[in-house]
Amino acid sequence: MTNAAPLTDSFHRVHDNLRISVTDRCNIRCFYCMPETDVKFVERREILDFEEIERFVRIAAGLGIRKLRVTGGEPLVRRDLPVLIERLAKIPGIQDLALTTNGVLLGEQAEALHAAGLRRLNVHIDTLDRARFLQITRRDDLGRVLDGLETAKRLGFKIKLNAVAVKNLVEADIVPLAQFARENGFEVRYIEFMPLDAQNLWDRGKVLLVDDIIAQLSREISPLTPVPDPDPRAPATEYVYQDGGGMVGFIASVSRPFCLNCNRLRLTADGKLRYCLFAIQEDDVKGLMRSGAPDEEIAALVRRNVGDKWLGHEINSGKFVAPPRPMYSIGG
Ligand code: SAM
Ligand code: SF4
Repeated sequence: MTNAAPLTDSFHRVHDNLRISVTDRCNIRCFYCMPETDVKFVERREILDFEEIERFVRIAAGLGIRKLRVTGGEPLVRRDLPVLIERLAKIPGIQDLALTTNGVLLGEQAEALHAAGLRRLNVHIDTLDRARFLQITRRDDLGRVLDGLETAKRLGFKIKLNAVAVKNLVEADIVPLAQFARENGFEVRYIEFMPLDAQNLWDRGKVLLVDDIIAQLSREISPLTPVPDPDPRAPATEYVYQDGGGMVGFIASVSRPFCLNCNRLRLTADGKLRYCLFAIQEDDVKGLMRSGAPDEEIAALVRRNVGDKWLGHEINSGKFVAPPRPMYSIGG
């Protein structure tokens, strides 16, 4: 770790948060992320190996990265993931490590992940209804996700649930999922459907808006009040139930973009650095690494990428262009 200047972009946003995608593969096929068939995966030799990922994180930690999230595709389909987790958890400067997963393989891997030093999980689940789970993910795996959650809870993981909010689809799931989270001590976060699906199905009319979800939960469970934000740079706005039943988070990427507070960078599984989920520009970390570049050159690339960062995505303007990569290939 060095005492390098913070990673600041031209809008004075300091970057200390890195999301690392470890694979673009997945064992389910959520319609808002992947196509149903003929998914184009990157060839294995194009995927960063553990040494390359670890090296990049060491360099990034030297530039002020403090928080890591491992994601994908589905990170648990990457072989020996706990080995990588253990290495990342030990990197000097890294203060927080979390994993985002669809939970299908969590029952099998939770113990090894815990032993590797992981303590925080975001588990993606949109519904407790088996038929709707199948409709959304095109796989009949709800039972495995629920088993995985139970195992992870027993091991003491801090668990958040990620639920994608799609209009005319999940309205009936909002309250049961919130109740399930309250009963289990999980925090559910509802995420507005974003234009990152592989089949260009998105349009504004398919977004179930956070304001509507807040109204529904307030009406049907207990009134919600916003909590003053302990970290204004976190994407979720958090609310508490008036009856003391815990917290619920909302990621209003479409209706209330939070770009002005963004502190995140993303490394794709094939080694491209992106300053935004919606970025068109990418910088080639893997190419540099595999051509024998020293750490200083890779650090300079990171600074350049941050320096080029735009003010924000333009989902709400006529200028918006969806990135050529869908969600599974960027890393959510
Ligand atoms: N496979 C893991 C999972 O599903 O959690 C990690 C990768 S996935 C791309 C990360 C998160 O992206 C998911 O938890 C899901 O909530 C979210 N997501 C995927 N497609 C989305 C979309 N089009 N709009 C909003 N959120 C989306
Ligand atoms: Fe797989 Fe996650 Fe995409 Fe669903 S959202 S298809 S679980 S990568």
